[in-house]
Amino acid sequence: MDRIPLAEPLLAGNEERYLLECLSTNFVSSVGPFVPTFEQAFARSVGSRYAVACASGTASLHIAIRLAGAKRGTLVAVPTLTFIASASAACYTAAEVLLVDSEPDTWNMDGARLYDELHARARRGQRLPKIVEIVQLLGHPADMEPILAAASEFDIVIVEDAAEALGASWTRGSLAGRQVGTAGCFGCFSFNGNKIITAGGGGMIVTDDVSLADHARHLTTHARLPGPEYVHDEIGYNYRLTNVAAALGLAQLEQLSVFLDRKRAIAGRYREGLMGGGVEFGPSAAWAAPSFWLSTVLFDDAETRATVMSRLHNCGIDARPIWRPLHLQDPFRGAERIGGEVAEGIFARALALPSSVGLSTTQQDRVINEIVETVRL
Ligand SMILES: *Cc1c(COP(=O)(O)O)cnc(C)c1O
Repeated sequence: MDRIPLAEPLLAGNEERYLLECLSTNFVSSVGPFVPTFEQAFARSVGSRYAVACASGTASLHIAIRLAGAKRGTLVAVPTLTFIASASAACYTAAEVLLVDSEPDTWNMDGARLYDELHARARRGQRLPKIVEIVQLLGHPADMEPILAAASEFDIVIVEDAAEALGASWTRGSLAGRQVGTAGCFGCFSFNGNKIITAGGGGMIVTDDVSLADHARHLTTHARLPGPEYVHDEIGYNYRLTNVAAALGLAQLEQLSVFLDRKRAIAGRYREGLMGGGVEFGPSAAWAAPSFWLSTVLFDDAETRATVMSRLHNCGIDARPIWRPLHLQDPFRGAERIGGEVAEGIFARALALPSSVGLSTTQQDRVINEIVETVRL
């Protein structure tokens, strides 16, 4: 039987045509018309004023966090349950991270707990984070209300790691109608091969502030000033997206609403097929429209999860645990943290299921049947 991957790209739109255009015009590197076209289309799609294309999602986070003011000794609050790139990007600036536990409803950073901790730290005269990096985990928007309140009370800059959540939005509350990536000062996205849209690899920063957008773009190109003489006014990076990648990204962006419909339909079919019987579907809050980047379920315990995973692997179905919380990883063992038990519980029981936009219903039913049969044994 055919292998069913976790999340593979679907390249059925204008990808080939745009790529051939790059070849025939000779614009294959970091100069070329697809880069600004992709940026403008992306900003429009997300509902942001400006977008700056980067070589990766991690690069976009690094630049956003640097421009948010991170430097040696700065404390950046990051959820402990996330892909390591969220925290690595902060560390590239020599900042330190404050790892925050998840809240059980959305698995995102527990904003209410962070809010209380900030007040306690302020009373004790302890160091406060200057930046909160909120991750929209697995495509589910975080509850931003306590984080927005904390940001305004303590003068904190919000950076969104929306790498997994392109197209997700809030439907109620002060951000109703807004898409992820637009709640803070910067929103960062990834176009890695397994994300909602891909550019082969790449990332994007969105912001409503023109001077921050200009500065971000400047930093992606070694902070080189215009003119022939290679004059640089600060240390930048080689982080610009190539025209070839932007061509691919633009073609994928044109299909975003179809991809989101598919992701949501896949999540709905898993929920229906797996309901009850020891399987709990991942977060879906009434106040959010998640992207369901990876449909993820919770089993009763780690043992059941392991049994299901090995059964799925034996029949060629790729299913994976989500990330080991950062406080359990060597580089972050000494980091400051708030809790971590909720994240550990989710980590122990969660399994991400095949969620490619090209997943057929026959394939999906195979996954569902294998799980149901294993759990019922
Ligand atoms: C994928 C991802 C990133 C990094 O994106 P790259 O494009 O792979 O560098 C960062 N944060 C999260 C939460 C991600 O899932």
